[in-house]
Amino acid sequence: MNDTSMLIGGKLRPASDGSVLDALNPATGNRLGTIPDATAADVDDAVAAASSAFATWRRSTPGERSALLTTLADVVAQHADELARLDADDNGSLYREMRRDVDMAVFYLRYYAGLTLQLHGDTVPSEPGTLTYSVRRPYGVVGRLIPFNHPLMFAASKIAAPLAAGNTVVIKPSEHTSLSALRLGELAADVVPPGVLNVVTGTGARSGDALVAHPDVRRLAFTGSAATGRAIQRRAAEVSIKTVTLELGGKNPLVVFPDADLDVAVAAAVRGMNFTWQGQSCGSLSRVVVHRDVHDAFVERLAARVGALRPGLPDDPDADTGAIVNAGQLEKVLSYVRLGQDEGARLCTGGDRVTDGGLADGLFVRPAVFADVDPGSRLAQEEIFGPVLAVMRPFADAEEALRIANATSLGLTASVFTRDLGTAHRFAEDLEAGYVWVNEVGRHVPGTPFGGVKDSGIGREEDLDELFSYTQLKNVHINYGHL
Ligand code: NAD
Repeated sequence: MNDTSMLIGGKLRPASDGSVLDALNPATGNRLGTIPDATAADVDDAVAAASSAFATWRRSTPGERSALLTTLADVVAQHADELARLDADDNGSLYREMRRDVDMAVFYLRYYAGLTLQLHGDTVPSEPGTLTYSVRRPYGVVGRLIPFNHPLMFAASKIAAPLAAGNTVVIKPSEHTSLSALRLGELAADVVPPGVLNVVTGTGARSGDALVAHPDVRRLAFTGSAATGRAIQRRAAEVSIKTVTLELGGKNPLVVFPDADLDVAVAAAVRGMNFTWQGQSCGSLSRVVVHRDVHDAFVERLAARVGALRPGLPDDPDADTGAIVNAGQLEKVLSYVRLGQDEGARLCTGGDRVTDGGLADGLFVRPAVFADVDPGSRLAQEEIFGPVLAVMRPFADAEEALRIANATSLGLTASVFTRDLGTAHRFAEDLEAGYVWVNEVGRHVPGTPFGGVKDSGIGREEDLDELFSYTQLKNVHINYGHL
């Protein structure tokens, strides 16, 4: 693969000081090429280009913005296989999963393309001879920072709402998985007016920080870890008042009552952990809370199913799970497996590095299940963002289940399995999470608000509110009575 370029002001270019970072294939250890390691000056250029493009883009019609997003969706769809290939090679996930991600990105580009006419305000009754109305206005330059786990899906779908609302965008993908975003930038160069979309790459500490701290970026949207989210809030506040939305991590509970169909619940626990992405998903249900009457049978069946999952190369049609994105993340996962054992939890299956079956050069961990986990322990409290599923000590009644489920600082998703209508509604009401499933896991229903409570974030995405969040309301009061 050739070395890559960033899209800044309609031009494809390297970092101004020539720095690059290696792009590595975590499944094979192969070097795929390099990505530009942007400097603060490159970020300045991108923001300046975006500011200057905003002068025109803010006056575009809803129809023009809709047409542009539709064209972008078409281009992404035409290059779906290529983009999925880049993601699978760059982040180690299974090709078929990354291919689905591209379809989701196309879906969201089209979804927001269809919503541009919804950007209306209100009229408010006031005195005779006056007219009071509100209008929605874009912020200007939006800084968009995204994580490594769904590279193209986030790069393409998370620019849709800000562009639809009339903002221009500077997006920074994760330094670990930038190839598909850079390719998206190349493709966009042919269809997007210069400066409306800019793609800068590099580390969080350098280009990420420069984007967050740029005084001309008043609206930041971040998807990533809670720790980085807090650092970004702090950093942004040093510069000026910025609107920051945060889509952060989770340590999400799955609660199983004894009236649930046990096999269905076990299958759901495996699905909900997103082993297909090595558990590297914010919404993964990584804490299972099971009633004591069915606990032992549940754990036994769960361990058997997870133990049968096969790690493999991205193109292996029989693989159930892929590689961990990089060596640091792999070490983090393995250290939590050691920690769980030190904390007295019982490792039922997996948790070791996989080196057999042609995987020795890659970063593979066998999917793990822990049981007898103390709900207050670090294994139960901290997001691992890897294939480690923790089953808590059994609960006796609904009160206790709810207490355990809510006993973390995070609150992104949660799920409850029961056939009892009262229990289902009670948990839907009282689970401290932004997205609750009942007898279901993992599904993001398009058009519904996704986002967290507590340390899992601020703001909602994938719905109409996300579009509105890229606008500010302006109120206008006209007195025409005395004319
Ligand atoms: P991360 O926080 O390490 O990095 C995310 C992005 O922020 C990257 O582009 C990185 O370069 C940049 N960054 C890092 N430090 C920065 C700084 N100081 N200033 C500016 N930018 C900085 O996250 P990650 O490891 O890439 O992704 C995993 C995390 O993302 C998990 O916690 C996961 O739960 C979360 N996530 C959340 C959602 C959601 O929708 N809530 C979705 C996916 C992932």
